[in-house]
Amino acid sequence: MKHLPRYIDNTIDADRFTLTKQEFSRCTMNLVGAGSSANVRSYPVSVLVLDEIDVIDERTRRECMDRVKGRHDYKVLQSSTPVTEAGGIWQEFQEGDRRRYYMPCPHCQAEIIFRLKNAEGDLNLKWDKKANLSESEHDLQMVESSTVYICEECQGEITNAHKSKMLRDGKWNPTSSSSESGVRSYHLNSIYSPILTFGRLAVEYLKARTNPGAMQAFVNGWLAEPYRPQEGSIDPDTFRVLERDYSRGDIRGEYRIIGVDVQRSIFFWVVRGFDKDGTSWLVDHGTAPSFDDLTALAETYECAYGICDTGYRTQEIYEEIHARRPFWFGARGWERLPHPYKITGVDPFSPMKDKKFSKKSINILNVNKDVWQGELLKRRNGTNLNWFTYKETDSEYIRQMLSTNQKEKVDRKGKVKFEWVVEGHRQDHYWDCETYILTLSHVFGLGGAVIRTGKDLAKTSKARPSRPSRPSKSSKKSIW
Ligand SMILES: [Zn+2]
Repeated sequence: MKHLPRYIDNTIDADRFTLTKQEFSRCTMNLVGAGSSANVRSYPVSVLVLDEIDVIDERTRRECMDRVKGRHDYKVLQSSTPVTEAGGIWQEFQEGDRRRYYMPCPHCQAEIIFRLKNAEGDLNLKWDKKANLSESEHDLQMVESSTVYICEECQGEITNAHKSKMLRDGKWNPTSSSSESGVRSYHLNSIYSPILTFGRLAVEYLKARTNPGAMQAFVNGWLAEPYRPQEGSIDPDTFRVLERDYSRGDIRGEYRIIGVDVQRSIFFWVVRGFDKDGTSWLVDHGTAPSFDDLTALAETYECAYGICDTGYRTQEIYEEIHARRPFWFGARGWERLPHPYKITGVDPFSPMKDKKFSKKSINILNVNKDVWQGELLKRRNGTNLNWFTYKETDSEYIRQMLSTNQKEKVDRKGKVKFEWVVEGHRQDHYWDCETYILTLSHVFGLGGAVIRTGKDLAKTSKARPSRPSRPSKSSKKSIW
């Protein structure tokens, strides 16, 4: 009160208080929306408070920071729920002295922090095992009422009743000594909240876990950490939410597409079934030594169409496709393409007539990889909930499907960009097959074209192929 502006007779001057401005006797507080950088230009500032900086445009934030430049005595206070790892509050936190709140464990008195998982990646929250109905189903009420926090030092059970005393007895400790001097940064997640129980957190975690789309909201909002999709999705358990109750080799969907990735001496293939509404089911996958084997597989699984990569062994693949047209499409992946996809014709025997359709030409599906890998990522992460795999999905398939990811990169202008990277054992052939299949399914499924019933399409003028060698696991399901 004593700093409020006053008239000469010492009464408070209420006119000097508006919605966006509060005058004090020694300073003025301006409240400014960060929606436009024009808002922030006019003020010299000695104390700058920026809230929710991860949703403030980076340029606007930099301009705000410029307001304090040139002053030797200033303070900047930034806060936010972290959204991205690159830039924003997470970067600011890393550059400071990274303070965390340490509290004495009620059992062993060790100074501990609250975090969801320990260094080994095990949950620090523990609930009654009876609440686990199955791998992915839980009695959430029982979880909520029985969850305790496990001390990482002594494995003692910390209950909600312990929490408020722990919070009172705690203190902020820096965890980094290499910070720019004078920059303090603080991190606090929802486990510390005096009004949230451990049980509530466990329930929120379990709910987010069954839907990786919700996991980002949980990680950002509850754990106050940036979401790293490549970490979340590398966990094969998250892949299990895509499994449905059918066996490898079961023919699923109203029509099926076989997708093929070409290697030096072998083909990787995937057969996926689609319903007209876009729901799809992984039928089978494997490797095959020759193109004839692929045609036989297409017959076995009654595929409507096939699509084969043409980026490698191009002329040979063109000719194979040509001999079996119009069943097979060639696929060509592009990093940049003005459209999501484009179909062009190629005559493999007179390449000069490229792009002109003729009786001899084959169909090439030009795939915008950025678009379709993005679509596939949404399905693989379970965001779309219409893309499924058979029960107990093959681990090699999972590995290859999880090896392709998007990583955040910050460009020179400070903008966050996503880049595709292949991790792990750097094999993502099934991922490529699935990308081509997904694109082709949209060309026909959602493009309005008539879906041809596949069986007769797989038969071509070429001599009937010999029976392929198929993975033993699925051969019992053969319809031959
Ligand atoms: Zn302890």
